[in-house]
Amino acid sequence: MRPNQIERRLKRLLLQVTKPGRYVGGEFNSVTKDWETTDFKVALAFPDIYDLGMSNLGIMILYEQINQQPDMLAERVFSPWVDMEDLMRRDEIPLFSLENKRPVREFDLLGISLPYEQLYTNVLNLLDMAGLPVRSAERDESYPVVIAGGHACYNPEPMSDFIDAFVIGEGEEIIVEIARTLQAMRGSTRAEQLRALAGIQGVYVPRFYDVTYHADGTVADVQPNALEAPARVLKRIVPVLPKPFTGFLVPNIDTVHNRAPIEIMRGCTRGCRFCHAGMITRPVRERPVAEIVSAIGEVIANTGFEEISLLSLSSSDYRWVHELCDAVHEVYGESGMTLSLPSLRIESTSADLLDKLGDTRRSGFTFAPEAATERMREIINKAVPDEQVLEAARAVYSRGWRTIKLYFMIGHPEETLDDVQAIVNLCKAVLYEGRKIMGKKANVNVGVSTFIPKPHTPFQWVPQDATDRVDEKLRLLKNELRGQGLHLRWNDTESSEFEGFLSRGDRRIGGVILRAWEMGCKFDAWGDQHFHDRWLAAFEETGLSPFFYTDRERDIDEVFPWDHIDAAVHKKFLRDDYLMSIKGETRVDCRDRCFACGILPKFKDVRAETEELAWECPPVKPISARKRSADGERVSNVALLP
Ligand code: SF4
Repeated sequence: MRPNQIERRLKRLLLQVTKPGRYVGGEFNSVTKDWETTDFKVALAFPDIYDLGMSNLGIMILYEQINQQPDMLAERVFSPWVDMEDLMRRDEIPLFSLENKRPVREFDLLGISLPYEQLYTNVLNLLDMAGLPVRSAERDESYPVVIAGGHACYNPEPMSDFIDAFVIGEGEEIIVEIARTLQAMRGSTRAEQLRALAGIQGVYVPRFYDVTYHADGTVADVQPNALEAPARVLKRIVPVLPKPFTGFLVPNIDTVHNRAPIEIMRGCTRGCRFCHAGMITRPVRERPVAEIVSAIGEVIANTGFEEISLLSLSSSDYRWVHELCDAVHEVYGESGMTLSLPSLRIESTSADLLDKLGDTRRSGFTFAPEAATERMREIINKAVPDEQVLEAARAVYSRGWRTIKLYFMIGHPEETLDDVQAIVNLCKAVLYEGRKIMGKKANVNVGVSTFIPKPHTPFQWVPQDATDRVDEKLRLLKNELRGQGLHLRWNDTESSEFEGFLSRGDRRIGGVILRAWEMGCKFDAWGDQHFHDRWLAAFEETGLSPFFYTDRERDIDEVFPWDHIDAAVHKKFLRDDYLMSIKGETRVDCRDRCFACGILPKFKDVRAETEELAWECPPVKPISARKRSADGERVSNVALLP
């Protein structure tokens, strides 16, 4: 279908759907290149609605990387909401890109962002709406190559029937490498194209790996069946974070995050045993203060955004966090711009830092103790004394924040009902501290999610807590955590069960995902769109049990479906850490002491190449100075903290 035909038909539908701004494109800062004269075409898809996808930093970074290539173009694709999908299918309008309104079918490469598992059925729906066979094996070179990237791809097996190639790790550099490789392979067969991709470090092509199983259903082995396919696919990292992305597109409608995210640090060294992101994004790399401060200015100039969020997994561990707050205050103090610094750790959020964050009092202050007893916090390796939690609460309330948000997880290994009761007690103790300081104005918002064991973490061996036990724990919390100043929010147990069987699934789960999609499952991340019974029926039809994937304790020597995906942290390190957790033993932040998790040897060559500005392992605590880079491009900043 020609783009003008799509535009014409689209115009007729816009008044019949909710939020038509999702489908029109033309945003400020969007890039629409000439289709006819631009050689290589990349469609970048976020498999959910525009409102979510437009807040995804990863898609924006890749959009810029490709559009910076003079002979390439990147255009955005989002899942149409159910009302628009019905009309598009009725009027046979294929899925199209927002810039040139071109059918996705006409692109050379379709890149799909996969940050979490609940998006899987949307990927199949997106491929189908684009007129592509959903199975990779049924697509030849006449179709775009379909790749996927994002945190969920660290266990790519459940989606390996549908995706041609996965990017394991960071996409900034590899996306252009992949595009250039396919551009050079034009006219080759699909198999030849994928062999070429398999030769790129960080690319996993599942059809070049055979999986065998033991009689009990566990994986026996995963073996490459092509010369180009390495036995283990080592993740890609960018040794030095490139300059922050500042060319945000100004959305046509409100999005989930109406603010611009600037990543100040990537990776974390705290070693929380449940934390997937903390393990797969190592090593820690930090951006210099000057770079962040000038990026904030560029974002404001480019977009007019009034709120900037400084992103990282643990911002109070960023070595220059104090200088950064000082510099931002100095440069933008009068601009009216709001700065949010999410994910502050109780242990490293000093009173000093709180004072510097003064002007973000509008929203509550967030802490994530994750567990309410010191015993449990040691098991999950987030060891913080109770008194330090209360001390931090006093420090926050006494500086004028009225609401403290506390995040907990239930279902961790070794957890008892007493540990759950302790959540109630701790929240009430925090509220009591608040009441002492500001009376009835004090609030505690409590967020409780169910712990889901994730691949590549020390807890990848543990069983997920059974749904009936989680329900019992939630009943306790709902009964006790109520009353003035206390507000509880929780995840429903079915969505946790669902995420659980996809997170540690193997290649056979592909059959379940396909059947669930055929039964109409999509938008599973939306509570009112997730049909759990259909998923259970799909499991039954496929002859698999969901509880094999969720409730089963793994044997300590079990081969995992993702063991051939190398996140650069040794399995032995994870296993030892898991065994330490059972004994309640903790590890300190590896900024204090390196535990040889595997990162260093795996990336020593990469590190050597960028000695000047490279990441440190162990990362440095705030007392260092950075040398001016050889090309003078990036200014150093001297940490002033004693
Ligand atoms: S190599 Fe050492 S310092 Fe680096 S992330 Fe691993 S444990 Fe931490």
